Amino acid sequence: MIPYKHEPFTDFSVKENKKAFEEGLQTVESYLGQDYPLIIGGERVITEEKIVSYNPGKKNEVVGRVSKANQDIAEKAMQVADEAFKTWRKVKPEIRADILFRAAAIVRRRKHEFSALLVKEAGKPWNEADADTAEAIDFLEYYGREMLALKDGKKVESRPGEYNRYDYIPLGVGVVISPWNFAFAIMAGTAVAALVAGNTVLLKPASTTPVVAAKFVEVMEEAGLPKGVLNYIPGSGKEVGDYLVDHQRTRFISFTGSRDVGTRIYERAAKVQPGQVWLKRVIAEMGGKDTMVVDQDADLELAAQSIVKSAFGFSGQKCSACSRAVVVENVYDQVLDRVVELTKELSLGETTTPETFMGPVIDQAAFDKITSYIEIGKEEGRLVAGGEGDSSKGYFIKPTVFADLHPNSRLMQEEIFGPVVGFTKAKDFDHAIEVANDTDYGLTGAVITNNRMNQEKAREDFHVGNLYFNRGCTGAIVGYQPFGGFDMSGTDSKAGGPDYLTLHMQAKTTSEML
Ligand code: NAP
Repeated sequence: MIPYKHEPFTDFSVKENKKAFEEGLQTVESYLGQDYPLIIGGERVITEEKIVSYNPGKKNEVVGRVSKANQDIAEKAMQVADEAFKTWRKVKPEIRADILFRAAAIVRRRKHEFSALLVKEAGKPWNEADADTAEAIDFLEYYGREMLALKDGKKVESRPGEYNRYDYIPLGVGVVISPWNFAFAIMAGTAVAALVAGNTVLLKPASTTPVVAAKFVEVMEEAGLPKGVLNYIPGSGKEVGDYLVDHQRTRFISFTGSRDVGTRIYERAAKVQPGQVWLKRVIAEMGGKDTMVVDQDADLELAAQSIVKSAFGFSGQKCSACSRAVVVENVYDQVLDRVVELTKELSLGETTTPETFMGPVIDQAAFDKITSYIEIGKEEGRLVAGGEGDSSKGYFIKPTVFADLHPNSRLMQEEIFGPVVGFTKAKDFDHAIEVANDTDYGLTGAVITNNRMNQEKAREDFHVGNLYFNRGCTGAIVGYQPFGGFDMSGTDSKAGGPDYLTLHMQAKTTSEML
């Protein structure tokens, strides 16, 4: 087995790469507007009602029309997945892993097509779409290998005359509910982690990005996944989501999305339903209010560049995005001025070429929410860049910087999930860490400093699941920087890490007298 190594990113300054990506876009354009059925037990189910997926950068472009599951269909899918579990759980881990490796190879061959689909369906800039696809490939490669490492369980001691074993067995039917912002990577990663561990899955992707999920389910079929193991049931989160979360046959829920929905799922899943004979497990990865701290011993150019990239990459629509910059007072003006300068240079528009840095936000609701936060920001702080939006053709919002915010202001406390970053001044480094920790969330954070003692202080006291030094706070790589947050950011399940698969399994001890 070749050791795991993450998928390289594409350099679009190379002519051949740019051309290959353009071909990917042409492929996607050839199937824009098509209809997609649900996939349950391998059967194609077409419903009257559809979810229509639009290009958020070009509102009149329909990416696809997807059949929409309701509660009756969700019930049928549950029965199919429950039945399929009886055989899938006995399929050897090696075979399950091989299906993931084959799927990774198929996606790799169609890499630019998948990324181009993300450009259309999620409005991603090319480099961000490329990273999303690379991460999906990484999850397939990494979790396949992780399953091989766990297939014989873990070591326990045996006394003379006794043989003890500690093996991992699957749980049952998992409901996987994914977000739109990593419409490929998170959707695929959470689904295949559950599958490779021997569970069967009901996949409910976000309603704004269901087409990429449909294409992925086809890839898994092509890779040899038996019917009924992965069932594709897009539908309303409220209707289908609640129904499946409550279902007595649901064994676990793997959710990535907002705090509101995550806490709702956590609460509902805790209720034992009539006929339910287990306590449901919940993996919930939720929001963030991620902070970059800069001290007086920092490379200030690096600080400004890192803040801008982390705040505005994919229009700030990452749970890891930098939405707060906390800068010590004697370098505050310098860092802020440079961030404003860099922000004003960023290009914004439909992401038709690799040169466009920032595309649209995902939909009208996101546009409205973000622009309303900008209005709040004008009251709470000093607008120093951006502050405007235009939703006539697509949902475009200028990268926006607010200065001089109070640490307790709404802009510094609430997740905006858009291209808005707020600055606040700290008296010294200790105060900066205090402000950084003053949030309900604890997902990512970064410290820009050349002061080793400050770095070590942050390592101990900056309470986030992913902490970075002298770089931005986005861009975790599967198998290198396992990802997941503390507090209201979720159950800290560390996707892409060595402890992740066991969350989808239960350990069984057997003890034999020899
Ligand atoms: P969201 O609104 O919570 O939606 C996430 C998923 O939950 C969607 O598939 C949605 O379906 C579904 N859903 C909605 N209501 C539901 C219900 N009552 N029961 C079950 N499922 C339900 O989040 P989003 O807007 O897609 O994603 C953005 C959020 O995700 C941000 O807060 C971001 O920080 C977070 N996020 C966290 C991580 C992480 O690893 N911590 C990674 C990425 C994103 P519909 O689309 O049909 O509503």
